[in-house]
Amino acid sequence: MSKVAVVTGGTRGIGFAITKALVAEGYQVAALYHGNEEAAQKCAAETGAKVFKADVADFAACQAAVTAIESVLGPVSILVNNAGITKDGMLHKMPEDSWHAVIETNLTSCFNMCRAVIAGMRERQFGRIINISSINGQKGQLGQCNYSAAKAGMLGFTRALAQESAAKGVTVNAICPGYIATEMTAAMPQEVLDSIIRQIPAARMGKPEEIADMVVFLASDRASFITGATMTVNGGQYIAA
Ligand code: NDP
Repeated sequence: MSKVAVVTGGTRGIGFAITKALVAEGYQVAALYHGNEEAAQKCAAETGAKVFKADVADFAACQAAVTAIESVLGPVSILVNNAGITKDGMLHKMPEDSWHAVIETNLTSCFNMCRAVIAGMRERQFGRIINISSINGQKGQLGQCNYSAAKAGMLGFTRALAQESAAKGVTVNAICPGYIATEMTAAMPQEVLDSIIRQIPAARMGKPEEIADMVVFLASDRASFITGATMTVNGGQYIAA
């Protein structure tokens, strides 16, 4: 039986590309989504992945989703924490709920989903956890104190869980995408996007498939000695040591 992979936010944008790529590699994929039914059904029809509705910010919902996935597909071997949102604004104007929504959806979700799968991975002595962070978690970004904090938090979480899990055959890594053409970035004003593209040495935005390729590699047996790492995929926009 092929391995089971769960991709949160796996029905749209970068997550959809990850779902599609993992299905093409022969994994059984469960794609989690939050509310966009149309995108979820389209994803299921186009990729053959199974789709499950759950709010990754809700601990009990994540436990229930993993139980449902495991009863349909079997034990989870690969978890990609990809679901994320933005609620941008300068800190001096940021409403309290924009802070909490972004921290809970982007960071607490990693705890919620990992907590639901980690014991089983340790028991079976195999697992791959891949956290989709962001360039803005590495360098910070004006107007994104909430998002930058959540994405930087994912990197610390990744490094700690990697150390806890390495001896049990479970690797935990993060990917920091630069600016990738999805609905999330399409929501940004064109003049802001143009100014960002001018700062990217590759002189273009990335494609969702370029993040999916890194996920496929980190999920594979070829990546078994890589853990606690931050993989930067950003066209040279921010070159971290
Ligand atoms: P999109 O907005 O295109 O898609 C977001 C996905 O996350 C959707 O499938 C959505 O489900 C799901 N989602 C959102 N909130 C929840 C929730 N509470 N519970 C479950 N699922 C949820 O985002 P992108 O593809 O652009 O981004 C994917 C990830 O990559 C995010 O973590 C983002 O921060 C990160 N990233 C993106 C970059 C970019 O330039 N696009 C750059 C760097 C990082 P539904 O369809 O039901 O709403």
